[in-house]
Amino acid sequence: MDFNLSPLNKMVIKTAKAFCETEIPGIDAYMKEHKDYPPYLQEIFAKHKMLGMDVPKEYGGIGADNFNLILIAEEVGKTGSTCMLPFFMNNSVAETICHWGTEEVIKKFVPPLCDGTAWASMAFTEPNTGSDPRSLTLTAEPDGDDFILNGTKRFISMANKPGFGVFFTKDLSMKGKPFDTTAFIVDKMSPGITFSGHYELMGLDGADTCDVFFKDVRVPKANILGKQGKGFPILLRWIAGERVQQCAATVGGGQAALEESIKYGNERVVGGFPMGYMQGFSWMLAEMKTRVEACRLLCYKTVKLQDEKKKGFEAASSELKVLTVPLIQEVCRQAVQFHGSYGYSKEYKVEKLFRNAMHVGVVASSLEINKTIAGMTILTQK
Ligand SMILES: Cc1cc2nc3c(=O)[nH]c(=O)nc-3n(C[C@H](O)[C@H](O)[C@H](O)COP(=O)(O)OP(=O)(O)OC[C@H]3O[C@@H](n4cnc5c(N)ncnc54)[C@H](O)[C@@H]3O)c2cc1C
Repeated sequence: MDFNLSPLNKMVIKTAKAFCETEIPGIDAYMKEHKDYPPYLQEIFAKHKMLGMDVPKEYGGIGADNFNLILIAEEVGKTGSTCMLPFFMNNSVAETICHWGTEEVIKKFVPPLCDGTAWASMAFTEPNTGSDPRSLTLTAEPDGDDFILNGTKRFISMANKPGFGVFFTKDLSMKGKPFDTTAFIVDKMSPGITFSGHYELMGLDGADTCDVFFKDVRVPKANILGKQGKGFPILLRWIAGERVQQCAATVGGGQAALEESIKYGNERVVGGFPMGYMQGFSWMLAEMKTRVEACRLLCYKTVKLQDEKKKGFEAASSELKVLTVPLIQEVCRQAVQFHGSYGYSKEYKVEKLFRNAMHVGVVASSLEINKTIAGMTILTQK
């Protein structure tokens, strides 16, 4: 595999760096004040040509690939800004609808996700499960040309923003069939939908994650994504892509934690010398750098499998998570320790990077579920 960056890749990185320098300070300042995303955020992404990365141009996308997308994810991850979540979501949901939708569905729902006029969501988790499709309780019951949805989704990102979400339901018309999970594209502003307040999270400052309550919500049959009862493969494929984007952003967070530590290690004087030159701390930097580099390389390898549509990509994305979560969480912990008490203060970026790194082990399928996917694939591979 060739990991040399092409001129296009280099230009994408340059553009992403410019976005991070010019836009993110304003976005983060808004989010600190309002504890929410700026309403025009997706349009900023669109202006910088960051949406619809893996969507064909005819549907409003950029027509690039996932490799370029993860290069941007890494740059945004370095800033520690929570705005990475809606950036991932619009990209991944648009690509998912392109893959599974009919021509009519794609033309209706994908362009607004690419021009930034709509906010995407993906909703699987419920109060009783975030891992098991058999335990879903958001029901979908047929009624003429519509389905009626009732129940609750939990911890849904960007749920209360205008746009569309892919909601996974227990389809009552599939009762008795082996698979009964059906995915619907739902207008999040439909009558009968209400929201909880935002969850107070450990990290991802300003994120809008909340519960979504459905009371007799009418959704046209035409909004079914893929086939009835075949929602779970849609979820598994989407999560595999999302994992890679999240891991890339996490690698970015680890790289930033390393760079902050190098700077601090050269500046902070202890016992007459810059502290980074103490053997214990220079060893720590060596561990941090090699951990970040290992995760980055596996991330590049995995996304190449995705772009080349290679069999085994989904299990490979789980292996990436199995490597990245503990390694980068440890890198961020080391960065806090490296900074002494300053690392524990909000004056220094590393405490935010540490808090953000903790989320990747529990979101978009937990670390344990990914160990199970990777392990079972190894056992059953011929
Ligand atoms: C900031 C944030 C944003 C989120 N955004 C979204 C979103 O947009 N959409 C969405 O659908 N969800 C979202 N979630 C929810 C998240 O994806 C789920 O919480 C996650 O998938 C885990 O589900 P759970 O918490 O219900 O854990 P459970 O499924 O209840 O599991 C509890 C624990 O048991 C372990 N476990 C479960 N089953 C197994 C098994 N078979 N083998 C071994 N261990 C197992 C899990 O790893 C976990 O540690 C978000 C969560 C957060 C914190």
